[in-house]
Amino acid sequence: MSVFVNGNAIFDAARKGHYAVGAFNTNNLEWTRAILEAAKETKTPLLIQVSMGAAKYMGDYASVKHLVEDEMRVMNITVPVIMHLDHGNYEAAKACIKAGYSSVMFDGHDLPFEENLTKTKEIVKLAHERGISVEAEVGSIGGTEDGITGEGELASVSDAKAFADAGVDYLACGIGNIHGVYPENWKGLHFDRLKEIAAAIDTPLVLHGGSGIPKEQVQKAVKLGISKVNINTENQLAFAKATRAYIEAGKDEDKLAKGYDPRKLLAPGTQAIADTVKEIIGWLGTPSIKD
Ligand SMILES: [Zn+2]
Repeated sequence: MSVFVNGNAIFDAARKGHYAVGAFNTNNLEWTRAILEAAKETKTPLLIQVSMGAAKYMGDYASVKHLVEDEMRVMNITVPVIMHLDHGNYEAAKACIKAGYSSVMFDGHDLPFEENLTKTKEIVKLAHERGISVEAEVGSIGGTEDGITGEGELASVSDAKAFADAGVDYLACGIGNIHGVYPENWKGLHFDRLKEIAAAIDTPLVLHGGSGIPKEQVQKAVKLGISKVNINTENQLAFAKATRAYIEAGKDEDKLAKGYDPRKLLAPGTQAIADTVKEIIGWLGTPSIKD
């Protein structure tokens, strides 16, 4: 039996309760443990998600799943954890369904609309047969390519409806959000479009690129129907900053204290991730599970 839960009950409750659940990307052992530690301390459900690139870096989809499973056992994690594929292509979504993930994102935003919809329906069928939830994307999330940061393409209400009708369990919509660091001249989230989409469909909505959006805007989006917020860059920045402070303080060169030991060198960064995840969970208003 899987130790993971799918997203259905968790996100239905979030959408109805006007709060969100955080989805945090893992990259390695330290990231995995830090995210799980935050879940344990806050007693809240969350998603550990992996991108195709991070899965390749760590081994494969199965090895990531096994790592998360094993750490959950060792750390005595009893809160619900959703094992999720972030931005998977068609092959990756199928591979993660086979590997026993409890949730997958099929991101066909770069395909022609009809093909994206058709492939999404195929993934939904395969996943639902196994009790796995599916996220898809309409519009597109902005990001930096060739040094230029673009805003992405705003999701249309009719496209969102088509994907909701296709049986998608949660839907990522482009509403001016961006992956990575937000540029100085960013215009903010398009709340009007979010309101229109949330009024048209009951499907829980997903905010990608949650790192770097001001707290007030994230919380407003959650009030308006965002149920899942993806956080990646925020943890990377926190990890890098804490690791830099350790090294700049010369602690890695303290041979007496064995400051070069990776278990010591990576500890402040790992703690910084756990602290960041806990802070974000607070922003999202995810309620604690009652004992
Ligand atoms: Zn994303």
